[in-house]
Amino acid sequence: MSFIKTIKNSFKKNTVHKTWPGLIEAYMQWLPVSEKTPIITLQEGATPLIYIRSVSEEIGKNVKVYVKYDGLNPTGSFKDRGMTMAISKAKENNCEAVICASTGNTSASAAAYAKRGNMRAFVLIPEGYVAQGKLAQALVYGAEVISINGNFDKALDIVREISTQYPVTLVNSVNPFRLEGQKTSAFEIIESLGNAPDWLCIPMGNAGNISAYWMGFQEYFKHKRSDKLPRMLGFQASGSAPLVHEKIIHEPQTIATAIRIGNPVNREKALKVKKESNGKFLAITDEEIIRAYKLLGEKEGIFCEPASAASVAGLLKLKREVPKDSTIVCVLTGNGLKDPDCAINNNDAIFHTNLDPTINDVVKAMKL
Ligand SMILES: *Cc1c(COP(=O)(O)O)cnc(C)c1O
Repeated sequence: MSFIKTIKNSFKKNTVHKTWPGLIEAYMQWLPVSEKTPIITLQEGATPLIYIRSVSEEIGKNVKVYVKYDGLNPTGSFKDRGMTMAISKAKENNCEAVICASTGNTSASAAAYAKRGNMRAFVLIPEGYVAQGKLAQALVYGAEVISINGNFDKALDIVREISTQYPVTLVNSVNPFRLEGQKTSAFEIIESLGNAPDWLCIPMGNAGNISAYWMGFQEYFKHKRSDKLPRMLGFQASGSAPLVHEKIIHEPQTIATAIRIGNPVNREKALKVKKESNGKFLAITDEEIIRAYKLLGEKEGIFCEPASAASVAGLLKLKREVPKDSTIVCVLTGNGLKDPDCAINNNDAIFHTNLDPTINDVVKAMKL
């Protein structure tokens, strides 16, 4: 009884829920927008920063590990942060159609925002290498999906060329507005922690996101919203690690399809981030990615896609190098629901099937 009363009182005193307007309105003064910019938003951003006990304890040394759960954006990945900017600016420039190459998440996000802005969305995807959830989204959001017998890098070459010859705006991360939107995640992290973290761990595909985070951290540092800059730790799958080995990979392979990219467009930017932040790039195996993926699910109740788990897998691989007392943020770039096949094939769940519908048989299976 008294418990219920407490809740009622707290409701009376506080209006708890505040509507978040989306990141353009929230961070207007930090973004290249003006009163003329039509804001196309699904109220993306403001994703939670969650403390991860299991990983913190595995590292020890009084280290605090958090994940920035960007898979909770409207279409389930951080791409929405960039897409609200790219599509709003495209709309401002009277564009009627957008195009992208995609391993899946860009196409889902581009389609959602383009449709909200009443534009056509063309998406090129590598046949057979897009996770089911992402393909489902692009179709439901009404994208015009073109699947090619070639990998992401080939698809990007094609859309880049088309966007120079036809009136369609390219919304891959070569579009500078994408990175502007994505940098807001660094702002949110600093606001949550009260300072920048010591390390920022992040998966890299085209390396737009690591470049965007670095922009965000630098801007807040310059304006004294933080008193330090993080080391930027970028991770790639070992079968798809062009930035680690500093060479193009012609046939990239990994279970983490979102980062199956052999020729990253933001290569120069990423290498600069590594240098300026005293950072480090490292390759991790698919097995290590899956171990981190399962650990986040089973121990923390956090379901991310395999590419995202690379940030945690990479951190665990570097655990001996982590300075004591440090604060670390791992970016979880996409939602686990994106890739149900990976989930079904990679778990240690107890799953009893085909039982008779009786209390006896159910209890027997429960081994109580
Ligand atoms: C796009 C994407 C990445 C890679 O981001 P880049 O900016 O290309 O480096 C990583 N994880 C997920 C889930 C993605 O969708």
